[in-house]
Parts: sequence; C-alpha cells; structure tokens
Amino acid sequence: MTERLLIGSGNPGKQREYRELLAGLDLELLLPTDLVPVPSEPAETGATFAENASHKARAYAAAGGLRAVADDSGLEVDALRGAPGLRSRRFFGDDATAPERNEKLLALLDGVEQRGARFVCVTALASPDGRALLFDGEVRGEIGFAPRGEQGFGYDPLFIIAGDGRTMAELPADEKHRISHRGLAVAKLRAFLAEEPR
Ligand code: IMP
Repeated sequence: MTERLLIGSGNPGKQREYRELLAGLDLELLLPTDLVPVPSEPAETGATFAENASHKARAYAAAGGLRAVADDSGLEVDALRGAPGLRSRRFFGDDATAPERNEKLLALLDGVEQRGARFVCVTALASPDGRALLFDGEVRGEIGFAPRGEQGFGYDPLFIIAGDGRTMAELPADEKHRISHRGLAVAKLRAFLAEEPR
C-alpha cells in the first residue's frame, strides 16, 4: 500500500520544494492542512537546526499518526558571525516579507566586502512513535549587492552560489535542487526511503 507521508511545514516555498524533491517515490504526500484538525506549527525552541528539525517532524508525526518530514534551515553569514542562522525566518521581525528581509540584510552588510555565507538544512524523518532520523546539506556562496532572480523563495535572490555566479533565485527548480542545502539533504533522505525494507 502506498505510504502517506506528511510534509511538516507551513512554508509554501518549502512545501513546493519537498513535493518536487520527493516526486517519483511510492508515497502520497500530505500537507498539514490535509489533516483534521490542522495541527498548529510546532515552536522552534531548539539550540540547533537538528534539534528544531527533529522536534518539528516528531510533533507533526504524532499529530497526524503517520511519518512526517520537517526541516530546519537557514542562512549563515560569516560577517554576521552566523546570523541570521537559526533565526532566519524571524531575525528581521515576525511580519517582515521576504523582500523586506532581503533589504534589511543588505543594509546590515552595507560597506562589508567579506560577504561569504552558507545555506544549511537539516531534514528530519520522524515516526509517530517518536523515532527520528536526520539528513543534512549545505551550500556555500556569498551575499550579493542587490536581489537577482525570480525563482525560489526567502533569501534566494541574494545568495550567489560559489563557483557558479548566479543567485539561487536565478536557477530553475531542478538546478536548485541539485546543489541546494535542501536538495542535498533530501537526496540522502530519498536514498534512505528507497532502500528501507517495506
Ligand atoms: P525555518 O526553517 O522554517 O525556521 O525557516 C527557514 C528560513 O530560512 C526561511 O523562512 C528562509 O528565510 C530561510 N531559508 C531556508 N531555506 C531557504 C532557501 O532554500 N532559500 C531561501 N531562504 C531559505
């Protein structure tokens, strides 16, 4: 029987990417809004990406009674000693839109020449009994001086991929998935799912 797997995220950008990244596996992918009642988004109170990812995946798996994947991810800027990092979503205010966050990040880096950064992702696969497995990925790059590109989401228009020169938002989805932090983490998850005994 086809397994139902919950994509534990309320972020439309992540939901779309997980649908694309998990396509072709024998899985029926569900979103939190497919559950009754719709579970509330778990709080991110951990001290690491791994803690947050496993907490979120476990909470969604327990709420839905099925396996769930969730990721915690973020942008770490060297010149900001790793910020916005774990707090990438809220660092520039809870209600800031992605373009507003990008503008604020550019303002923080005004006059800064060393613009190295990395995107980090930890994906957790949790079972309703509380077990969780972790898969990680990262990609290095630097922060540009102005947003470029219309694809992707979040900080993608500012993130210039090392050795490529394009921003993450200038890549078609399949190219982003081949190199991105989330693409690399989910490739490991896919390999695990494809190989586990059914
Ligand atoms: P969280 O994992 O839900 O706490 O939020 C991660 C935040 O990091 C997102 O809201 C984005 O701001 C940023 N982020 C994570 N992954 C990406 C990505 O692939 N592109 C652009 N921004 C990202």
